[in-house]
Amino acid sequence: MADVLVVGGGPAGLSAALFAGKNGLDVTVFDTDKTWMHKAHLFNYPGIGSIDGSNYLSVLREQVDDFGVDRQQGVAVDGVESTGDGFTVATEEGEFDGDYLVLATGANRDLAEGLGCELTDEGIVDVDVTMETSVEDAYATGAMVRAEEWQAVISAGDGAAAALNVLSKEKGEHYHDFDVPADATELFGSLVDAE
Ligand SMILES: Cc1cc2nc3c(=O)[nH]c(=O)nc-3n(C[C@H](O)[C@H](O)[C@H](O)COP(=O)(O)OP(=O)(O)OC[C@H]3O[C@@H](n4cnc5c(N)ncnc54)[C@H](O)[C@@H]3O)c2cc1C
Repeated sequence: MADVLVVGGGPAGLSAALFAGKNGLDVTVFDTDKTWMHKAHLFNYPGIGSIDGSNYLSVLREQVDDFGVDRQQGVAVDGVESTGDGFTVATEEGEFDGDYLVLATGANRDLAEGLGCELTDEGIVDVDVTMETSVEDAYATGAMVRAEEWQAVISAGDGAAAALNVLSKEKGEHYHDFDVPADATELFGSLVDAE
């Protein structure tokens, strides 16, 4: 069983996958590649001067791949359902089971509504700062949780928040993913060894 199923591979979904995968969870991402990032050029992503949206996506995809995320690129999710102790997503490639579900389908809220997630009066998916929805262990991130005020860095932050909350649940205490300079040598070495 996969630990975390992520639907959507824009900044929100891939950020959730990055944090979850980097910290040892088994992650599968489904994505139909309709992300708005292919239309964007970022001058406002903190720490990055200027990057074409598609290039940003290429870097981020490589980053999650390096951490062992199973990226089901081009695979659409047709439905999601709660099984009581996890979730099942239905795709043309078959069904996938997971303990946690992260929805990151941009402004499209159909899957969240189908799962029974509560919406706000504005019609956006209702979440708290952990990005968990009214359905336990189901998270909603990115454009679907805001009426407008859509920005790539905000979506990426949402995905990270969802993954950290999943990690906190799994580890039984509040979790953060802090690295220090000495970790860079060790991490780079392990990534080279894995190739
Ligand atoms: C023209 C334009 C310019 C922009 N410029 C900027 C900018 O300069 N700076 C900035 O910060 N932001 C910019 N943005 C906004 C930015 O692109 C969005 O805020 C960001 O892409 C939202 O990320 P997300 O992950 O929430 O959703 P998205 O990036 O929309 O990603 C959602 C992904 O989910 C996939 N998906 C949806 N449903 C399913 C399903 N059922 N199964 C599988 N996959 C599914 C989609 O194909 C898509 O790849 C711009 C947007 C546009 C349109």
